[in-house]
Amino acid sequence: MEVSAGALRRNARTIRQRVGEGVAFIPMVKADAYGLGMARTVAALEGEEPWGYGVATMEEGLDLRKLGVDRPVLVCSPTPPGSYRAAVEADLIVSLSDLGGAQALTRAAGEVGRRGRFHLEVDTGMGRAGFDWRTAGEWGPKIEALLDGPVRWEGCFTHFHSADVADETSVSEQWARLGAALESLALPSGEFLLHTCNSACALRRPDFAAGGVRPGIYLYGGVAGEGLPPPAPVAALRARVSLVREVPAGTTVGYGATYAASKRETWATVGIGYGDGLPRLLSNRGHALVKGVRVPVVGRISMDVTVVDVTRVPGVAAGDVVTLVGKGGEEEITLEEVAGHARTIDYEILTGLTRRLPRIWRDDDG
Ligand SMILES: *Cc1c(COP(=O)(O)O)cnc(C)c1O
Repeated sequence: MEVSAGALRRNARTIRQRVGEGVAFIPMVKADAYGLGMARTVAALEGEEPWGYGVATMEEGLDLRKLGVDRPVLVCSPTPPGSYRAAVEADLIVSLSDLGGAQALTRAAGEVGRRGRFHLEVDTGMGRAGFDWRTAGEWGPKIEALLDGPVRWEGCFTHFHSADVADETSVSEQWARLGAALESLALPSGEFLLHTCNSACALRRPDFAAGGVRPGIYLYGGVAGEGLPPPAPVAALRARVSLVREVPAGTTVGYGATYAASKRETWATVGIGYGDGLPRLLSNRGHALVKGVRVPVVGRISMDVTVVDVTRVPGVAAGDVVTLVGKGGEEEITLEEVAGHARTIDYEILTGLTRRLPRIWRDDDG
């Protein structure tokens, strides 16, 4: 897996320019920075002066602290009861979604003897986390009452469920719901961060960015949504040919023998499989680039190897580089194409690439 630090930074700048100066940049580096590697991603983005970083779990927040990150770290997913203490000890900002969480944070902060920092999530339609926007008049005063304790309310956010689709109706509706909830809250004075946008929202509706943006997929070269500008490609996936064979018509390949040569064919065995995160759904459907030529995957993808039909490509030899995602000569296989064949989204392809693949970073803009 080749990762371009330059492309990552270019994508970060595209988002920042879109939302404008003064909007806090909070790159989401959860799931090992969408599979690219958290440490290298943070190193590459530090120069872009992020406000802080977003993660999903307390453990990921601790990973950032171990890397020496002392910027704010926002844990976006709800925190399990047993994790508040560690979050407070590491000075992580947790996201609160209910009063039970608020009480658990207060308790943990009291025990540790350090303020418990939180952002409050307002559920405006995502339905997986957050205080219900409709009942802010009820929970708002209860949160305010806790602010006499060892906790500090530092921000508020919501998450859009459909910013990736061209129809903006639901995004506008969720924005209005957030506004309605905020109106019935007495927000603390002083530094307070309101943030709403993932990648798609930042690109589509920068006017909804409020005080900060939380982009993920676009930074890592994934398409953020319908009709949105394509990112600079960040990750490429390559492997090597380990064996080349000419086979007579009728020869079958792979588990289940789902493909048989229709004539004399040349097959190349490539050293990558689903154990590396190459989706098995690419079996008999996906493509690879060999010497700049697009060739089909034949038979089922195995755990460790994939076979491609290179009959059309002269001179393929063991050791040749095969591209599964990325550019190969004039041709390109995009992450989206692979995600399409695998009936999933760019996010799942990237985060599904396993540890067996070395991440090779190129600092290609110097
Ligand atoms: C993952 C996540 C994001 C980033 O979304 P992208 O679509 O990858 O830009 C933003 N906010 C929250 C709460 C998230 O969980």
